[in-house]
Amino acid sequence: MEIIRTVEWMKQVSQQARLDGRLVGFVPTMGALHAGHVSLVHAAQRDCSPVVVSIFVNPAQFGPGEDFARYPRALDADSALLESLGVEYLFAPEAAEMYPPGFSSYVEVEGLASRLEGRARPAHLRGVATVVLKLLEIVQPWRAYFGRKDAQQARIIRQLARDFHLDAQIEVCPIVREEDGLALSSRNAYLSADDRHAATVLYRALGAARSCVERGERNAARLAAEMREVVAKEPRAAADYVEVVRADSFEPAAYLRGECYALLAVFFGGTRLLDNMLIVEKDGEFRCEL
Ligand code: AMP
Repeated sequence: MEIIRTVEWMKQVSQQARLDGRLVGFVPTMGALHAGHVSLVHAAQRDCSPVVVSIFVNPAQFGPGEDFARYPRALDADSALLESLGVEYLFAPEAAEMYPPGFSSYVEVEGLASRLEGRARPAHLRGVATVVLKLLEIVQPWRAYFGRKDAQQARIIRQLARDFHLDAQIEVCPIVREEDGLALSSRNAYLSADDRHAATVLYRALGAARSCVERGERNAARLAAEMREVVAKEPRAAADYVEVVRADSFEPAAYLRGECYALLAVFFGGTRLLDNMLIVEKDGEFRCEL
């Protein structure tokens, strides 16, 4: 596996792969890799060759007082893992390479980025959209792979790709979970043993919502209320938001129809965790994907 540190070198490698008629797959990450990231690499390897993984803890998507400084960094272990998976290129630029002095352009995805994560973490989604546009421009992949764990982020990236006429196909892959249902996240490493135990409440809340849907509940407010009740019963958890939204607009849903997300963000002390469930209506039947 080749470790690439500069934008120019990454562009050259990717351009050569395209000239050779190869289909470049791309998996952007912030590192501290876990099985969720590995599932994206496997998805990319099924469709593409070569696969490029990026590891970049993007300062632009962290607000003041957030965890940029203490975000887990494990480049040696990550590169050994990627090498063992047969990944061909790891793009791991320094912050100064991505944001040289004088950098001054940012991407705002209007509407979609003003709700939920956008309201809870102002400038976060602007930072994500900006770095993803930059990475897609540098790597120019055939396909890029994202996790549904960050459903709003994935929706924004699709919008970005459409609005800027990007060639990359955006693929969104299922959520990978621990055995007890907790969605894998690099931030799970922050949890104390007690909080780690309590953190299953996100999955339990979504499970309760799924049971409601299976019993025929179609009212989105009642679904959200059911989830809030589950979270409220967990003393170590403090809900940031618990909502049911339309999957296209991320606006609140009144009732279930088409594709919706049940979404929640929950604090355990200073650690904020996200999870969601996709609810799909097809021919009058409802299917819940955790
Ligand atoms: P991150 O390193 O947290 O920025 O995540 C990089 C990519 O991995 C994003 O597209 C995430 O949505 C995805 N991802 C993170 N956790 C999971 C998970 N548990 N299952 C599937 N994809 C994930």
